[in-house]
Amino acid sequence: MKGTVDILANPIEYLKGVGPQRADLLKKELNIFTFKDLLELVPNRHIDKTKVNLVRDITPQTDFIQIAGVLKSSGLMGEKRGKRLVAEIKDATGTLELVWFQGITYIQKMLTVGQTYLVYGKVTFFQGQPQITHPEMEVYNRENKEGKSTLEPVYPSTEKLKSRGMGGRQIGHFTETLIKLLQENNIPEILPESVLQPLQLMPRFKAFVNVHFPSDPETSQQAINRLKFEEFFIAQIRMGLLRQQRHRYSKGVVFSQVGEIFNRFYEQYLPFELTGAQKRVIKEIRRDTGTGKQMNRLLQGDVGSGKTIVALLVLLLAIDNGYQGCLMAPTEILTQQHFNSITNLLKDLPVNVRMLTGSTKIRERKEILQQLEEGTIHFLIGTHALLEDPVKFKNLGLAIVDEQHRFGVAQRARLWKKATVPPHILVMTATPIPRTLAMTAYGDLDTSIIDELPPNRKPILTVHRYETVRSQVMDFIKAEITKGRQAYIIFPLIEESEKLDYENLMKGYENVQAYFPEPKYWISMVHGRQTNEVRTTNMQRFKTGDTQIMVGTTVIEVGVDVPNASVMVIESAEKFGLSQLHQLRGRVGRGSEKSFCILLSGSKLNNEARERLKIMCATNDGFKIAEKDLELRGPGDIEGTRQSGALNFKLASIVQDRKWLEIAREMAERLLDDDPDLASATNLQLKNYLQALQGKTAWSKIS
Ligand code: ADP
Ligand code: MG
Repeated sequence: MKGTVDILANPIEYLKGVGPQRADLLKKELNIFTFKDLLELVPNRHIDKTKVNLVRDITPQTDFIQIAGVLKSSGLMGEKRGKRLVAEIKDATGTLELVWFQGITYIQKMLTVGQTYLVYGKVTFFQGQPQITHPEMEVYNRENKEGKSTLEPVYPSTEKLKSRGMGGRQIGHFTETLIKLLQENNIPEILPESVLQPLQLMPRFKAFVNVHFPSDPETSQQAINRLKFEEFFIAQIRMGLLRQQRHRYSKGVVFSQVGEIFNRFYEQYLPFELTGAQKRVIKEIRRDTGTGKQMNRLLQGDVGSGKTIVALLVLLLAIDNGYQGCLMAPTEILTQQHFNSITNLLKDLPVNVRMLTGSTKIRERKEILQQLEEGTIHFLIGTHALLEDPVKFKNLGLAIVDEQHRFGVAQRARLWKKATVPPHILVMTATPIPRTLAMTAYGDLDTSIIDELPPNRKPILTVHRYETVRSQVMDFIKAEITKGRQAYIIFPLIEESEKLDYENLMKGYENVQAYFPEPKYWISMVHGRQTNEVRTTNMQRFKTGDTQIMVGTTVIEVGVDVPNASVMVIESAEKFGLSQLHQLRGRVGRGSEKSFCILLSGSKLNNEARERLKIMCATNDGFKIAEKDLELRGPGDIEGTRQSGALNFKLASIVQDRKWLEIAREMAERLLDDDPDLASATNLQLKNYLQALQGKTAWSKIS
């Protein structure tokens, strides 16, 4: 804190017993640079010093154990790469082998035959004999048993640290020194009573002490919970402040009226009746864009819920109010598709729509850039090329980012800069994102949800089949084609440049051709190695029904819309992630015909892959799948959030600790409702703490 010397900011080498060499290791191996970093290193677990196991009691089920015994022998064995240090420790009941492969010379020097040691480590069996590799050793004396706290912390460590005598237990000597050094005023309370009290949270100082040296397991858990909560709470308060600041102070352009173009389109050209959810979302957006504040909104909806038409209507709203709009899509194919369908829908209306992608020809690009600045283009559709600096608008009022839930704060900031008054921003997700992820990565956004599919959709029937029955699957496709339907067959191509994947795709294509010979059948193929022209032509032929089968890679993953297609076959489905599978499946079931998704896999499946396929067969609900995906894979990265820290929780996990996150969210909102400026004396410490954090991230401005 300001004024006082912050002891926690001290470099780690200044801690008694550490020194420059060990400090170097701590920095390299565990990212510990300061006292604070060490304080925040949470033990993996605690071991009870008073509990010493006996060699006799070791069984194949034994995990970590602690043995007290005399070192009988130690010596080097093996040669070159097989070289190892082997020692024997003996207690009253038997002898156990200890093995080291690294740091051998150092360890050998430290060991004294005849000395009694306390040995700790994980038991493994080698040729039927129990042993511990890289155990942690300390000289055994009575004090080991009679420390104040009997629970000794074991910290995360690395082989390198262990081989330098800094295993998971030895680091405990450093934290012990540190904790002794710290006083309550070094770690002041930052949470107000109004938060601590109802949740019965442990005071901050006590929590840190007990995370390292708890009096009992229960206190240890309470201490950890307190710190996890704090982490979530601070993040939520910061998000809340950002949101609130935008609501209060940001200036946005005003879309005050629903005008002529919107109304004409709505009455004459809208191809279907909007669902209730679509109408509600448009209302939410209208309200938001009419206030004079800048809108930053996340639109969530499952695959096929009809986000595009919402985007189009909102764009018309912008145009009616004299502003330009842009729509950004993640791929060229999708950009092209949006452009085609939107120009088609708007063909009788006075709206000038243009498209800009990486493959736009130089001359056309020049023209587009010029007309954008002059304001004669109303509405620009494009890929990431839109974000580039030369793309300047006359008066951009609205930017929509489609099918891109991996679009973080930093990317949004690039859009804000495209106009003097930042444009309204609408980010539309490709599939739903889990609640907890929305709260953390997008906590600064307002959210709208389309929770209803257009009417007459029949649920997609999903099945899992082994590759051995591929010919039956092909017969099924034939039957569907006879009924006038179309089918996708997707091959994994994780990296478009991967040669093996490419060969697989080609083999697959030939195989499909053998089943479906011309001229009775026609096949389109799209993949990432084609030129955009070829890809677009092939896509277009499938769309118009010239071809009945589309063989492709995940380039068609998002957004592609061919309502007549009723079968989605995914080859090597075990190689895809859940959200990808769901997204691919979403290419069918877009019309009123019954649709099918067939997941083909090899017969050897690991548990996680099996689980994914099972979930896919069990549900069509993108919200449920998103939660499962998060459970199985963790949060991953969202562009631009890694640096900003939105998902960097040291202790808490948005998967395991989601309950705490929900509570933190609620408490943060309540606190900001009561005291939006953190002006009250009770929130002073919190405010100070946040201000100290400020500046560590570029996008946090706390007034
Ligand atoms: P997504 O939310 O996945 O982007 P789309 O906007 O591509 O979904 O819409 C999926 C399909 O549903 C499209 O063919 C679209 O024309 C159609 N659609 C959208 N809204 C409705 C509606 N209210 N009634 C009927 N069909 C609709
Ligand atoms: Mg879409």
